[in-house]
Amino acid sequence: MDLLKRRIVQDGTEVGTEVVKVDSFLNHQLDIGLFMAIGKEIHRRFAHLGINKILTIESSGIAIAAITSMYFDLVPVVFAKKTQPNTMSDDFYGASVKSFTKGTVSIARVAKQYLKETDKVLIIDDFLAHGEAAMGLCSLVEQAGGTVCGIAAVIEKEFQGGSARLREAGYHVDSLAVITKIENGHITFKD
Ligand code: 5GP
Repeated sequence: MDLLKRRIVQDGTEVGTEVVKVDSFLNHQLDIGLFMAIGKEIHRRFAHLGINKILTIESSGIAIAAITSMYFDLVPVVFAKKTQPNTMSDDFYGASVKSFTKGTVSIARVAKQYLKETDKVLIIDDFLAHGEAAMGLCSLVEQAGGTVCGIAAVIEKEFQGGSARLREAGYHVDSLAVITKIENGHITFKD
C-alpha cells in the first residue's frame, strides 16, 4: 500500500534497527483519513473470506479494527484485554502474550460470550513483529471453536519472523506495508 509506505518514510522514526515509531499517525495521534484507506485496503484483500467478526488487542489495534469494520458491513469488533478488569468474570478465554515493546508477559483475555464457534474471524493489529500477539489471538479464536480466516497487520517487520511463524502454523497473513530491513536510519520495504 504505497500511501502507507510513503507515510512511514515521511513521518516514521526508527528506533535502532528493531522498532519503528509512528506516533504521529498510528500509535498516539490517529490519522482517520489514512485509517479509512487502510480499512478499505484490508477489505479489498480479505473480502472474499466470509468474515463475520474482527478481533484485535488493546490498545493500538482498536481504532484500526473499528474503522475496518465499516468496510465489512459493520461486523462486530472484539478486542482482547491485557488485564482482567474487576467487571470481567472468570468466564474468559486466555492466552499468554509476550509484549515486543515492553518485554513483559500478559494474558490476552476475551469473555467467552464474545467468541463463538460460528465466528469467521479476521485478526487485525497495528504491527506484526515476532507474531506473539497474533498467535495469542488465534489461540483465543480456536479455544472458542471459531475459525481464523486471516491476519492483517498494518505494518509488518518481516525480519522479526512473525509472519513466517504464522504461515508455518497455517494462517493466511497479509500486511499492508512489509519492512525487510532498518539500517542506518533507512527503512527498506518489500516490493
Ligand atoms: P509481536 O507480538 O508480533 O511480536 O509484536 C506486535 C505488537 O507489538 C503490536 O501489538 C505492537 O503494539 C507492538 N509492536 C511491535 N513492533 C513495534 C514497533 O516497531 N513499533 C510499535 N509502535 N509497536 C510495535
